[in-house]
Amino acid sequence: MIGQQRDRQQRRKPGPFDLGVSARWLEARVRPVIRRGGLSPRENAIVERIKLLKKEAGSHSPSAPTLIKLIPELRMRVDACFLSNPYATDLFLDYLHREVIRPGKLRKLLEFYPSQNRVIAGKLSAAIGIATDHLFVGNGAVEIIQAILHRFTGDKILVNLPTFSPYHEFVRPDTQVVYNLLPKDEDFRFDAGEYLEKVRRERPDTVVLINPNNPDGGYIPYATLVAMLEEMREVRNIIVDESFIHFACEGDDYAYRSLTHEIDRFPNLMVVKSMSKDFGVAGIRAGYAVMAPERVKSLLDNGFLWNSSGLAEYFFDLYSRPDFLVEYERKRVHYIRHSRRFFKTLSGMPGIHAYPTHANFMLIELKNGMTAEDLVCRLLVRRGIYARACDDKKGLEPGKFIRVASRTRSENRFVLRGIKDALR
Ligand SMILES: *Cc1c(COP(=O)(O)O)cnc(C)c1O
Repeated sequence: MIGQQRDRQQRRKPGPFDLGVSARWLEARVRPVIRRGGLSPRENAIVERIKLLKKEAGSHSPSAPTLIKLIPELRMRVDACFLSNPYATDLFLDYLHREVIRPGKLRKLLEFYPSQNRVIAGKLSAAIGIATDHLFVGNGAVEIIQAILHRFTGDKILVNLPTFSPYHEFVRPDTQVVYNLLPKDEDFRFDAGEYLEKVRRERPDTVVLINPNNPDGGYIPYATLVAMLEEMREVRNIIVDESFIHFACEGDDYAYRSLTHEIDRFPNLMVVKSMSKDFGVAGIRAGYAVMAPERVKSLLDNGFLWNSSGLAEYFFDLYSRPDFLVEYERKRVHYIRHSRRFFKTLSGMPGIHAYPTHANFMLIELKNGMTAEDLVCRLLVRRGIYARACDDKKGLEPGKFIRVASRTRSENRFVLRGIKDALR
């Protein structure tokens, strides 16, 4: 027990990315270097390097660890770019320490092959109550998205904009991408009627709905989605990406509703789910999709035999355990609660327009004349806060949008102060 506590304390030692540091600690460390007004030549030099790295990274921002490695002068304090629940990461680490690392079982996880795809699907089946033959387990959701786009999508796919870019970037060269532009003037609200109209007109063989959507956080209610599925029986492939569904609650009791249990009614439906964001474990690469058994079989005909790592397998073991799930549920609700307060304060700041969100991040439009890149660089160089400039996101006017993720409560307070100062 004491050993356990000491371990926890050691991991709590303040440092970049430590999730347990207090806002006061961060303030005390940063206060001396915070100045108002223009950037110094040294700060400007760092900004130039950040801009160059971003340009080289294409449509996904360089990760915070990459930035620190390439620009050691940067003092990174809060990664508000990455969209995960940090409390869930803590929870996973607690279990990993207690059950794997301390008892000396890590070697086994790394030395030997993990279980095969079907075995891991069996473990997941117990966790989410879906039959194994309906489950395709992937090395992260992105692997599944690629597999679906290459195996099932034909000559036309309909994708909402703005969106998570792999859905248009990774299509086959012979697939035409048709976009459905979500209206900015209506807070990117998704209109089911107009959408169905577009589906009838364009006749795509594949449609993609991300719910809640990344990067704007827009949400389509469960009943609307089911009604839409009824109307789209003719569409060959319907992808619903629920990677952020654990953060979206319908009603007041923090419950979320997944479409996975509708799978038998709609053989054209494929529900994609990443574990990276809600469980805060992007590094272990774990995701799955729920779909008709013939589809699972068709994908497995292409391989994917050992596509999960030992760590991902351990995660799926945990996921089916009631003790872990009870604790996870507590972390999930705690995170949603304080994230909502964070978003409320953020939306009230002058000089910006905040788009309503059902996810764990908020899309913000700058209205004070500052460009997104200037704000992001300023936050990074002055405060060590890393937010996401959305200049490269299709469907968003370049230079105007940033996306801010909710982190721990103390980190969020630090971010609020930073943004408030930077907007002045
Ligand atoms: C991050 C993200 C994914 C990819 O998740 P991985 O499991 O890490 O590959 C898939 N879909 C959406 C909408 C995402 O934001």
